[in-house]
Amino acid sequence: MEKQNNNLDFLNKLSNILSEEIYPINTIASLNKHFKENLQIEDAEFIIWDGNNMILKDFIRDYELINNESKTIEINNKFSLLSEKKGEIFYFNDTEFPCDFSFENDYFFEDIIEDENIITFPLVFNKDVFGLMRIRTALKKFTKEFFELLNISSKFISGAIINYNLNEQMEVSLNFYKAMKDIAKIIESQYELSYIIPLIGEMIDRFMHSHLIYIFIYEKDKFKLVWPNACNDKKIFNMLKKLNKKTEYLLSDNSRIGIFPLKNEEKVIGAIAAYSNIDKLSQQDLDYLIQLTKQSELTIERANVYAEVLKHATMDALTGLNNRRQMEIRLGQEVSNAKRNNKELCCMMLDVDYFKKVNDTYGHAAGDCVLKNVSEIIKHEIREYDIACRYGGEEFFIILPQTSSKEAFFVAQRLRKVIENSQIDIKNVASKKSNYLNITVSIGVCAFDKAMSSEIFTQKADKALYKAKTTGRNRVILT
Ligand code: GH3
Ligand code: MG
Ligand code: MG
Repeated sequence: MEKQNNNLDFLNKLSNILSEEIYPINTIASLNKHFKENLQIEDAEFIIWDGNNMILKDFIRDYELINNESKTIEINNKFSLLSEKKGEIFYFNDTEFPCDFSFENDYFFEDIIEDENIITFPLVFNKDVFGLMRIRTALKKFTKEFFELLNISSKFISGAIINYNLNEQMEVSLNFYKAMKDIAKIIESQYELSYIIPLIGEMIDRFMHSHLIYIFIYEKDKFKLVWPNACNDKKIFNMLKKLNKKTEYLLSDNSRIGIFPLKNEEKVIGAIAAYSNIDKLSQQDLDYLIQLTKQSELTIERANVYAEVLKHATMDALTGLNNRRQMEIRLGQEVSNAKRNNKELCCMMLDVDYFKKVNDTYGHAAGDCVLKNVSEIIKHEIREYDIACRYGGEEFFIILPQTSSKEAFFVAQRLRKVIENSQIDIKNVASKKSNYLNITVSIGVCAFDKAMSSEIFTQKADKALYKAKTTGRNRVILT
């Protein structure tokens, strides 16, 4: 009776572990602990058949192959024999036993004890063996319960692993739609390929776990790597040479490298490469990468069209402020006005502090949100006849006509404080759970002097900004 209770207790606890832990690495750690405490098992490992690469892999160390050659052969042999017999046996050391063997007495193998016994059970789903549970123990005596419990455990664990893999697949497809959507959304803020392409790289990379992603742009008769910084694999460059307008994609002989051309209507404009030195690209990986490449092509094409249209625009699309070109025109006007009429004129260059961190931590949508907020504050804090522009990524330029340096310094300080004290709501855009964000800005202020050109005037404000950065940020420097 007590034995029965203990067994039930063991299995209950096992189910709890399997249902409570989320990550396989924790599940396996808890299982090992449970086995050790209750069955005196030193160590349990779980080896899963990877049908795509036709190899057996350690379940928790996803990418790792079993790196001991004789062990690999031994495991492979056991796996194929178990598969053949549909998992109806298990192994005690090297001897086969039926999974539901009957016992003559309570003790098992009393006379063939070794220093360490290895017991291998099949992991089975729908009568197919998909992996092995291998257990090491220094136990000298084995009871009937011991094998029964392990046999049931291997069934429980099989179910949990299958569930885990199904969940993971569902997550992959959710992540796929998210990646597609993110790529489509990139161009809300900028239209320069040098900005867009690294973002596409990051999004695909976040989605493809077992392959490295590289992005190339075709420029001056050559493929130039634009993301990430380095690619040492010569095979990729050799494959790139074979691309032409008609290629859908190229696969290396071992299927571990895939090249997907980025095309516009006339020609190849770049390529996405996926690379692994272990995993083959599965049919599903290929389908995903083909779709992601198509989405990237569309985004790049749209960005090009926008850029063309924007050549004639005066406004920055993200912030609604004047764009850089318009700023140059307005600055020219104000400078000549100040010179002609002997009026005061100031300008300021403002840059968000540690903005890259916002993008890196909360995603670029949160970064865009910060830029919109800063723009709104600028619009609100300046006078009607001041002229605010988005100068570049996270840099803003403000022209203050008929303003003394003292007043301009005062406006800049007020702006800096309002930004420092405002909480930016990123709830709906952040890639990671967060409600509000605080940021600071550094500002360089310059008062116009008749001897200056527009360029020198701007440069001086920029130098003052640089000084504000190097002396600690979140401050205003007046030249
Ligand atoms: P510092 O305090 O020295 O100014 O550091 P920082 O991180 O703000 O400066 P850095 O120049 O290193 O980074 C600016 C980042 O702004 C890099 C770029 O990817 C990002 N960026 C540029 N344009 C946009 C945009 O339109 N949207 C978003 N979200 N990020 C942008
Ligand atoms: Mg900055
Ligand atoms: Mg900057």
